Amino acid sequence: MIKLFGKVSAQKSFGVFVIPQFVKIQGVVFMAKGKVEFREAYCKGCSLCVNACPKKILQISKRTNAKGYEVAECVNMDECIGCASCATMCPDSVITVYRD
Ligand code: SF4
Ligand code: SF4
Repeated sequence: MIKLFGKVSAQKSFGVFVIPQFVKIQGVVFMAKGKVEFREAYCKGCSLCVNACPKKILQISKRTNAKGYEVAECVNMDECIGCASCATMCPDSVITVYRD
C-alpha cells in the first residue's frame, strides 16, 4: 500500500492523483482499495471530510481529543477506495490516505 495523500512536514502536504481509482477488465469494474489514518490531535470535528466521502464511511465519533473536539473516524475501512476526497477537503491536513 502506498502513501497517496498526507502530511510530510508541519507546513506542507502532498497529493498524488495519477493512480486510477478503478480498472475495468472485460466489463468488470475493480475498485481500488484504500486506507485512511487520522492525526486525531489536530482534528476539530468540522465534518467536512464526513460530507466529502463518496462511500459514506466517515463519521464524527464520541471520542474527544486534548482540545475537546469530537474527532472524525472511519467506520468501515473495507469500503474505502482511497479517493482522497476526505484528505483534500480537510482544512487541517489531519488525514493520510493510502492506496493499494
Ligand atoms: S479516501 Fe475516499 S473513500 Fe476513503 S475515507 Fe476518504 S473520502 Fe472516503
Ligand atoms: S475535515 Fe479534518 S478537521 Fe474536519 S472533521 Fe474531518 S479530519 Fe477533522
